[in-house]
Amino acid sequence: MEKQTFWHRFRVVVLLAILLVVSLNSWLSRSRSTDWQETLWVVIYPINADQRQDTRAYLNALQPEHFADIEQFLSREGQRYGLTLTRPLEIHLAEVVDNEPPTVPDNASILDSVLWSLQFRYWAWRNDGWDGPPPDIRIFLRMFSPQNRQVLEHSLGLQKGMIGLVNGFASVDYQSLNSFVTLHEILHTLGASDKYDMTTLQPQWPDGYADPYQDPLLPQYRAEIMGGRIPQNASFSLIPESLDEVLIGVKTADEINWLNP
Ligand SMILES: [Zn+2]
Repeated sequence: MEKQTFWHRFRVVVLLAILLVVSLNSWLSRSRSTDWQETLWVVIYPINADQRQDTRAYLNALQPEHFADIEQFLSREGQRYGLTLTRPLEIHLAEVVDNEPPTVPDNASILDSVLWSLQFRYWAWRNDGWDGPPPDIRIFLRMFSPQNRQVLEHSLGLQKGMIGLVNGFASVDYQSLNSFVTLHEILHTLGASDKYDMTTLQPQWPDGYADPYQDPLLPQYRAEIMGGRIPQNASFSLIPESLDEVLIGVKTADEINWLNP
């Protein structure tokens, strides 16, 4: 009896210790990445998601400069919020990954989502061919030919593990949109929340509006990055054409620790 109690307690202590280390590690990487003292390294890992020749050709020609608008956007917005760091983020491009990540479950329960996120993080670790300095944020970019697919699955960004999965179109015509979605998911990994209605996809007032106190309120002329769209009337919004039409609202700025870094 005595012995059993000892082993039972021992196991509980070991489990608690592991849990403590994992949470501490998540917390440390989060506070390190949002103290805005040093430029964050984002590595983008392209994936040929439909195995087509035209997708492959686009991925072969892809350069980190194709995502320069993300870096410029964060420099511009950081400056507006008085960040001393002039270059909050730097984008690097890894080699094309030849494997598909685990499929995101439809209508997932919380348990399904947790299991998927663990599988995805394990998959990412196994398929990480990047040999530069370790990235702060990793984005896996699944590319589809616009000749082949019209509708894409949802992209997502996980704060735990600082990792994202973005679906995009392999074409210069869609590069601005790819940057926009990638940036949205990067901000999720840094703690920003969605600011649109999940059913109607309409931005929520006031936090999901770029200019929530404009008079008249509608139409808006810019999008808040986590609101995702430019509201035109009560039920219709436009997708921004480039990051020039996007900004970071006060609530998002607060969530990524830009108000008191
Ligand atoms: Zn989102």
